[in-house]
Amino acid sequence: MRHPELGSVAEFAAATHVPVINGGDGPGEHPSQALLDFYTIDKEFTRLGKGLAGAHVLMTGDLKYGRTVHSLIKLLSLYAPMRITLVAPPGLEMPGHLVDLVASRGHRIEQRDSLAQGYADVDVVYTTRIQKERFTAEMSEGFSLSRDFTVDRAFLDARCGRDTLVMHPLPRDSRPEANDLDVDLNGDPRLAIFRQTDNGIPVRMAIFATLLEVDDLIEQELRPVRWFVPPRVGVDDPAL
Ligand code: ASP
Repeated sequence: MRHPELGSVAEFAAATHVPVINGGDGPGEHPSQALLDFYTIDKEFTRLGKGLAGAHVLMTGDLKYGRTVHSLIKLLSLYAPMRITLVAPPGLEMPGHLVDLVASRGHRIEQRDSLAQGYADVDVVYTTRIQKERFTAEMSEGFSLSRDFTVDRAFLDARCGRDTLVMHPLPRDSRPEANDLDVDLNGDPRLAIFRQTDNGIPVRMAIFATLLEVDDLIEQELRPVRWFVPPRVGVDDPAL
């Protein structure tokens, strides 16, 4: 179930006998996304020969209304102590109860308000879209995200390593004025967003299989996706 109101899925789950999967409750949580994000980090770290203990995860963007980061930070907090840096514009910071929870579990957590400040040794940069649909009319008035929050090639080259992962739950707002994750990283192997979204399929299949108690009946395991180049590329294609 996916619903625009905070707490709506838990309310529904409490009133039914069937298993309920939270597909996103307003600005609350998005646990299946957190599982696929965690699976992506684990898989990519394995490929890179890295471990979770001591990893530096930087989350940026709309940390207040972006539900994926709420679920991901809770999930990460269950693992070996990490360093977590939260970078949000004023008014869109991570809710205090989540910051406190993560700190209480022994992680090193820091909050900043610009990507322009010095960062080093970042293993994962997790960016999120500004969730304008959750803004009050007052907040929307004149709001625009400054260029300081854009994760682009210059930021990665200057502040991060050659094996830093760049993640985003999508959709990415690619309009230049949105200052979301920059398209200049398309084609850069550090951009993990398409591998991340591919991982959503087996992870959600696993959630269904587990809840339906058929996980022991699954015979076929994962095999790599083979992408093909489509003959038409979309609205910019002159043939359309
Ligand atoms: N797709 C994610 C969600 O459902 C992220 C987003 O919409 O920005 O929350």
